[in-house]
Amino acid sequence: MSRDRNWMYMKRTTSEGLFDPTFQHHVNFFLDYAYANAPNIQRELIDGVDVSKIRCPCGKCQIPRFKKRFEVVGDLFKKGFMDNYKAQVMRTRMVDLEARVQEERNLLVSRLEEERDLLATRLDDERKAREELQKQLQEFMKNWRSPSN
Ligand SMILES: [Zn+2]
Repeated sequence: MSRDRNWMYMKRTTSEGLFDPTFQHHVNFFLDYAYANAPNIQRELIDGVDVSKIRCPCGKCQIPRFKKRFEVVGDLFKKGFMDNYKAQVMRTRMVDLEARVQEERNLLVSRLEEERDLLATRLDDERKAREELQKQLQEFMKNWRSPSN
C-alpha cells in the first residue's frame, strides 16, 4: 500500500455532492487492505453470515469503534479521515499490545500462584507424613525396648 496518505484529506465530494470517484477508489483500496491485514478485526456471525468489523478511522469514531465495511465507507464519506491517522493507528496498536502483554502477565502470575499453592500443599502433606513416621518409629522403639526392661 502506498505510503502517501494525502488522498485521505482530499475533497470527498464532487461538485454535485456525490462521492468523489477518486476518493472512493482510494477508500475501497484502503478498506480491501485493512480487512485483509488489520491486526485487530472483529468477526461476528449475523444471521449465519460472517461479518468482519475494523476500527473506524473516520473523524468521528477515531479508531476505537469497530464497524462494518459499509458503515466505515459511510462514515468516511460524511466525516472524512481523522486527523493524524498514522499516529493514531500506531498509538492504538501500542495500547492493544500493552493490553495483551498485561493479560499474558496476569495469566502467568495466576498460573505461578496455583503452582506455588500446589507445592505448599504437597510440602505440608510430606511434613505430616514425616511426623507420622517419626511417631510410629518412636512407638516402635518404645515397644521394642520395653520387653527387655
Ligand atoms: Zn466512523
